[in-house]
Amino acid sequence: MSERKVRVRFAPSPTGALHIGGVRTALYNYLFARQHGGDLIFRIEDTDSNRFVPGAEEYIIESFKWLGIKFDEGVSFGGNYGPYRQSERRDIYKKYVQVLLDSGKAYIAFDTPEELDAKRKEIPNFQYDASTRLSMRNSLSMSKEEVDALIAEGKQYVVRFKIEPNEDVHVNDIIRGDVVINSSILDDKVLYKSADELPTYHLANIVDDHLMEVTHVIRGEEWLPSAPLHVLLYRAFGWADTMPEFAHLPLLLKPDGNGKLSKRDGDRLGFPVFPLEWHDPKTGEVSSGYRESGYLPEAVINFLALLGWNPGNDQEIMSLDELVKLFDLHRCSKAGAKFDYEKARWFNHEYIIMKDDKELAELFMPVIKEHGIDVPMETVVTVVGLMKGRVSFVKELWDTCKFFFVAPEEYDEKTVKKRWKEDSAKCMTELADLLESLDDFSLTHQEEVVMKWIEDMGYHTGNIMNAFRLTLVGEGKGPHMFDISSVLGKEETVRRMRRAVEVLK
Ligand code: GLU
Repeated sequence: MSERKVRVRFAPSPTGALHIGGVRTALYNYLFARQHGGDLIFRIEDTDSNRFVPGAEEYIIESFKWLGIKFDEGVSFGGNYGPYRQSERRDIYKKYVQVLLDSGKAYIAFDTPEELDAKRKEIPNFQYDASTRLSMRNSLSMSKEEVDALIAEGKQYVVRFKIEPNEDVHVNDIIRGDVVINSSILDDKVLYKSADELPTYHLANIVDDHLMEVTHVIRGEEWLPSAPLHVLLYRAFGWADTMPEFAHLPLLLKPDGNGKLSKRDGDRLGFPVFPLEWHDPKTGEVSSGYRESGYLPEAVINFLALLGWNPGNDQEIMSLDELVKLFDLHRCSKAGAKFDYEKARWFNHEYIIMKDDKELAELFMPVIKEHGIDVPMETVVTVVGLMKGRVSFVKELWDTCKFFFVAPEEYDEKTVKKRWKEDSAKCMTELADLLESLDDFSLTHQEEVVMKWIEDMGYHTGNIMNAFRLTLVGEGKGPHMFDISSVLGKEETVRRMRRAVEVLK
């Protein structure tokens, strides 16, 4: 086992938008593959044609592209183990269904849905298993001639897995340890349906994991109940030696109260549960996405990585490369992880601060243009550098920074009352004259000259600065005064000051 190359897979069913829990599953698979120098496979499990949703596969691929999670092989990526879309592997599954039938590990059953319903009514807690199968219509209870005749007639059938009762089945789970289940609680699962000539999830999943040489199955806790059946299938095929190791990840829980995180929690509390905005092709409903809500992909990755795992200390900010180094499946928790979306905002804020000013300016520029403003990129880079610590999202930059680009039209009443003194008009006129006379309008030079002037004149620094701020910003907020005036430049600074004096005197 140990000499096998690590190969893991993310195997979504294209039944709609990718839930954020699925993104976390893919991320953990990615981290595990990277840190072991292994392969990450992208497989589409689309054997349930009733649940197929057009556009879902493309949506999933685009989501990972945005997040920066790269696959080594699979649908749209290619590779030597294809095809990677299960609907294109019908013949392969047929062959393996036949293997199980030939070895007596599976059997053919003709019971119609009506017959099964009748049985359920007749027998309380009916289960299709060792205790009931001989009273049903299948290749175990009927003669070979009868079975062949029915098939020749074109009767539809299913293939069921023949589960031997009363056996303890052990699932060795990296996160949960030895999980034991008695086979008697399992029913003879349907593995194949003649009606659509397609296998069910269980058979296709096991055959593909085997053929694709998957070494570790890392997936959500909701698949834990299927794991004993999967173990039995590996054994039935004679593949127990190369059976993958399992790791069932903890559930994502509601931010408040108990239970599994659902899309409704997101709608109710106002946060996205999908990576990208999703337009439901059936209902037309539009659901918000992390991308469209202004999250940076790095922040989403970091946030998700810590939902169910931690590095063993209180380090919270980790890049994808650091996560690859630090991630450890053994440190994943068994208990569900509360989905703390306020924390997602906090991560975004931290990543905005860490983001390069130039990159951030490029994201902000279109917003500025939308407001009909034309400014050089260097100005935006400077402004973003001064202000990014005050926002959690790029879209919040406009309200926080707009005074750099638009002169105040009004002056905040409260601030005027508090900050505009008897002599403010006179002082601001003097200051405007002084600034206008400067040849060097650099931040340091302005500051030096102005501070000296305040001292020489015996003015109160606070009063001057407060009034100065009011003239440039229109209210009492903003960064360091000379940062503002040097971004605005001499002409605009002086113009704003003279106008304020005009309006407020
Ligand atoms: N197709 C399953 C899903 O949608 C895959 C489960 C597994 O990883 O085995 O999650």
